[in-house]
Amino acid sequence: MATIEFLGAAGEVTGSCHLVRTRHARILLECGMFQGDDADEGRNGEAFPFDPGTIDAVVLSHAHIDHSGRLPLLVRRGYVGPVFTHAATADLCGVMLRDSAFLQEKEAEWRRRRGANDAEPLYTQADAAAVERRIEPVEYDRWIQIASGVRCRLHDAGHILGSAIVEIEVDEGGARRTLVFSGDLGHRGAPILRDPVVLRRADLVVMESTYGDREHRSWSSTWKELGDILSEARADKGNILIPAFAVGRTQELLYVLRRHFDEWGIGEWRIFLDSPMAIRTTRIYQDYANVHDHEARNERRESGPLLDLDNLHLNETTEQSMAINKVTSGAIIIAGSGMCTGGRIRHHLKNNVGRRQCHVVIVGFQAARTTGRALVDGARTIRLMGRAYDVRAKVHTVGGLSAHADQRGLLDWYRGFENSPRVALVHGEERAMDALAARIGESPGGANVFRPRTGSRIEF
Ligand SMILES: [Zn+2]
Repeated sequence: MATIEFLGAAGEVTGSCHLVRTRHARILLECGMFQGDDADEGRNGEAFPFDPGTIDAVVLSHAHIDHSGRLPLLVRRGYVGPVFTHAATADLCGVMLRDSAFLQEKEAEWRRRRGANDAEPLYTQADAAAVERRIEPVEYDRWIQIASGVRCRLHDAGHILGSAIVEIEVDEGGARRTLVFSGDLGHRGAPILRDPVVLRRADLVVMESTYGDREHRSWSSTWKELGDILSEARADKGNILIPAFAVGRTQELLYVLRRHFDEWGIGEWRIFLDSPMAIRTTRIYQDYANVHDHEARNERRESGPLLDLDNLHLNETTEQSMAINKVTSGAIIIAGSGMCTGGRIRHHLKNNVGRRQCHVVIVGFQAARTTGRALVDGARTIRLMGRAYDVRAKVHTVGGLSAHADQRGLLDWYRGFENSPRVALVHGEERAMDALAARIGESPGGANVFRPRTGSRIEF
């Protein structure tokens, strides 16, 4: 009999981490960071509720920091086994974990200068590099033995490049049990990526529920919405700020701006990709055209790689980024962080959020208590680097661009299982889980729905 213990993203969205125990092995599914306010982030430094040295293998569904961000800490605290993940995720982690470490080193230095006692970074770039050395890249749809009596197979989750649904099969004396962990499930029909793979059988499904209470707009109305915002902004003669995660949303935006280039008058704008990390991750997207969908492969054949656009400026240096401060109109600025909690977007917000002619376009999920969430919720002032700024720019929330499946997508994916398996909902806020649990409960066969809390265990 195997068990799974929920150690993060249980009753909340961030900090994904689950521990699978079998008679002979301990497998850690992910080791993600908690994100949100200082209290949330304070949890990242806490001791793991297990000894990292006793874990046999780690499986990582995708590169987002709320799934991968504590891996350097895990290695630093004694983990010496392999990290199994898709090859594209391995490449993306090379960028994202180092960036995460860099930010923490910088923040520690800032605290040190202010005389703080706890001025040690959570982990360093050397720790991030140590994780990279432990990664064993794997392909989709191939069984691999990951520990004694445990094999694992990854399936395309269609969420970001390299994202995977993780199928784990435990064999104890010939009795086979299957756990399917959804990872983050993609939004069907999304640009560039393929749709999430539907599986047929499992003994237990652990499933994300981020948008369990919501339906996304159709893709066609989302593109219309974005086109309308661009024309409104053009008439207002200001700038457009798009806080975007370096991985996923940035590439989708570049892709749709190209596809609608003439229709939306994109040629009249200067587009700034103001993020060295987003530039690097976009190059990784270009490297893995083999896992793109048909449309993206055709598009590439016709118009070349994503970054090949005349009015696209790739800003690597701080000087290039600061030069944008002088641009008061006609700029589309794509910069991180995606929830405005750090990164260059804060500087652009400082310069533009108080100006009525400017537009802020929110294109991704905003966790509770982040600056991005405050903007979505209509805050009249926001705090940036310790100072309050009035919000006069128009704030648009384009929800349809989500990288996550909506309620229908989640339900359809679950209903793809032919045996109505028991399901544990993770990676969602209360309301989203309530709604999704109710809908799954109506499924034929009356599925058993669990809503684990941190520390809960389920046998499978
Ligand atoms: Zn994700």
